[in-house]
Amino acid sequence: MFFQQKKVLVLSDFDGTISRVDVGDGVLGRFAQKCRETIDREVVKGNMGSREAYEKIAPLVRVDAGRLRAYVLKCSAIDPFFVRFYRLAAKKGVDVKIVSDGLDFYIRAILDKHRLGEIEFYSNNVVFGEQDTLRFDFPRANVLCGRCGTCKSRILHEHRLMYEKIIYVGDGRSDICPSQYADLIFAKGELLKKCRQESAVPYRAFHDFREVSEYLKKNV
Ligand SMILES: [Mg+2]
Repeated sequence: MFFQQKKVLVLSDFDGTISRVDVGDGVLGRFAQKCRETIDREVVKGNMGSREAYEKIAPLVRVDAGRLRAYVLKCSAIDPFFVRFYRLAAKKGVDVKIVSDGLDFYIRAILDKHRLGEIEFYSNNVVFGEQDTLRFDFPRANVLCGRCGTCKSRILHEHRLMYEKIIYVGDGRSDICPSQYADLIFAKGELLKKCRQESAVPYRAFHDFREVSEYLKKNV
């Protein structure tokens, strides 16, 4: 072995997991309302991946960065136990990173607001253009699959050799695929439903980050 393998990594989803509401959903609902209903239906049915959905939505959004930021900061509440969890993880030498199929500008704004700006995150990017236009960039897509804007599974695989154990925390459809490559899953919402149907990986239902903290206290 040429490098020292670290013990534990917690990879967490952002929307609905760290943030209390789905901020991405809120943003697109507010600024791209008309087109969204049809696109959403296709995504839910599994006929369309998030990347294609973002690409269809982008030309229909008209908003400037200032208005978007003001909107985002109105829905910036996070799990009330996340900060304590993050401090405990740091004390125990456990790394915490965020994997999101949402958008960089609101993740950064919300983390900064809660003085968590140092947390590394992977997400889709918003690029603001002229006359209130914007486009989305997908620096973490998977060219072989192409469904999601951000391939969380690819990010997990990239960390695999560096850690003995990877704990995945999430709540939604975009967490189903990556969680199956982790060593332990904390699940709620859609992800929990799916785990209850089938999961090759051990999972625990959770409500908030207190339960993840308890696990670290007892096991790390
Ligand atoms: Mg989520």
